[in-house]
Amino acid sequence: MKSQPRKPAANPRESASHRQAILLCALALPFLIGLYALIVGYWARPMTSGQQLRIDEFLSLVQKDQVGSATILSADNRIVGTYAGGRRYWLDFSGGHESLFARLTGALEQSGVPTRVQGQPLKGLVGPATTLLPVLILGDLIMILFLAGRSGGALGSFGRAAARQVGEGSPTLTFADLAGADEAVEELREIRDFLAEPARFAAMGASVPRGVLLSGPPGCGKTRLAKAVAGESNVPFFSISGSDFVEMYVGVGAARIRDLFAQASAAAPAIVFIDEIDAVGRARSSSAAGGSDEREATLNQLLVEMDGFAADSGVVVMAATNRPDILDSALLRPGRFDRRITIDTPDLAGRGAILAIHAACKPLGDDVDLPAIARQTAGFSGADLASVVNEAALLATRRRSATIGAWDLSEAVERVVAGPSRRSRVLTAADKARIACHEAGHAFVAAALPGTGQVAKVSIVARGHAGGSTLSVNEQDRVLATRSELAHRVAVLLGGRAAERLVFGEVSTGSNDDLVRAADLARRMVWECGMSERLGPLAVSSAGPNDGSAPPWSEQTVAEIDAEARAILAAAEATAVHALTVNRAGLDAMAAALVTVETLEGPSLEAFLADVAPTATALALVA
Ligand code: ADP
Repeated sequence: MKSQPRKPAANPRESASHRQAILLCALALPFLIGLYALIVGYWARPMTSGQQLRIDEFLSLVQKDQVGSATILSADNRIVGTYAGGRRYWLDFSGGHESLFARLTGALEQSGVPTRVQGQPLKGLVGPATTLLPVLILGDLIMILFLAGRSGGALGSFGRAAARQVGEGSPTLTFADLAGADEAVEELREIRDFLAEPARFAAMGASVPRGVLLSGPPGCGKTRLAKAVAGESNVPFFSISGSDFVEMYVGVGAARIRDLFAQASAAAPAIVFIDEIDAVGRARSSSAAGGSDEREATLNQLLVEMDGFAADSGVVVMAATNRPDILDSALLRPGRFDRRITIDTPDLAGRGAILAIHAACKPLGDDVDLPAIARQTAGFSGADLASVVNEAALLATRRRSATIGAWDLSEAVERVVAGPSRRSRVLTAADKARIACHEAGHAFVAAALPGTGQVAKVSIVARGHAGGSTLSVNEQDRVLATRSELAHRVAVLLGGRAAERLVFGEVSTGSNDDLVRAADLARRMVWECGMSERLGPLAVSSAGPNDGSAPPWSEQTVAEIDAEARAILAAAEATAVHALTVNRAGLDAMAAALVTVETLEGPSLEAFLADVAPTATALALVA
């Protein structure tokens, strides 16, 4: 994609003087409004006190010589003075004719009342002031809006200023504030080093990834991890949420992206963190709902900005999502979010460490056993564990206890399990035992059959939709797979189900995903690779002709393919059952261990798999 010329970042000195001008205008505003209120409410009104007299009353008092003095207020059209021994009076002749004024002054003159005229020069300003002040107030308001717009402040940048620079003044996070995500931390150390010393990397000509995509379930510490990178490398952290971009107004999202990147480049080296990137980065073709134009414009702007900054600009974009599968593939291309890091819900050790982090600055009682709490909280995310500790502290406070006791913590676990904020899954003891058995089944079948790679990690901690995971790695990169190796992979996929049947007598829904993958693999062995003895060297494309014509194979062939695939699946299952029956003691031992420690890898895993009895190949069972 072609990069656009970048908008220069706002000059800091210029924006400082804008801010000063805004401040002055903002201070002038209450002054002007106050002055206007004073003039209209007080100054413009005639300042006359005492008794109001009617004209006839006044004239008769004048005739009776009871009026002591008279002062004509020329601007107010009033006569004020004293009568009947010093009492004050006032008389309004506004709206009257000249003749009335002549009559009043004539009567005063005839009776010899001392009369004077008081000119009111300042009153003459009331009229112009009441016209001018509203204009000034309006002008001041417009000026504030204009200046705020120029300086990128809150008002003028309506739709632009959603990005927040966080961290200033608040304690910075480090990698030590994060537990249970060691692999992710390890991967991010390089980014940290780059941000801390960009010049060193530039001198080497080394380019670092511009975008890092953190994926994982909610509350597992993605935001915290990004903040920790900023804290470790001591750079500003700009954060915005994908949902902030999606506005009703066209162009606002794209403007926000531009503004965010301009701010970050001005402060480089810096981290831009986009939470919930799926809100804006959802695959473009799959959106049918209205308003997607705006989202596309925003996404395009994001792509343009990510392409636009030079590799040495020192801005690293980190984004978080719990739906990496729905992201637009353009986001994942090289030069954009090409580093992908998965964070999963923590395992037993991770949970213990997270609890310890959150309990570190709280007074814990002597009876508290954090590892025991970690064992009770299988399936909890980091955020859940943080709220367990906080809830326990609240309970202890309510009890007026000086320390948080074991009771508070276990009560808090109950509350968090029941509470509305609990989004992730909690495992019951029965589920845990079944998942442990299932995963141990995969591991033992894999270990018993050749060509399935080495089992590197077995875990009952949920990964994505799966209950647990068993990870096999091949020592060498293999390009080809033989027929027996593929059949063994089918057997490994069915190993979990076979173990459940063997140990619990029946299977569960936990194997659905395995079944789909095993059936797919078996079918492809037959129709893509010609690996069936009975059908011979036949390959039929799984897609079929796309011009609508009838496929070039008969229904009978399809039925035979099905039968062959089923034969492979049955043989594979029999092989898996056999492998597990032979190794039943080891299977039970590993399952039991998994229930307590949740994840086995390295030497502890090897110890379980050391004495696995190898099993006859699955293909021997296929006709
Ligand atoms: P996400 O961005 O993945 O939804 P957050 O980073 O916002 O999750 O995590 C929410 C809170 O949960 C954090 O502020 C922290 O208190 C706690 N938390 C989550 N994961 C961890 C972890 N691995 N270590 C320590 N605390 C964690």
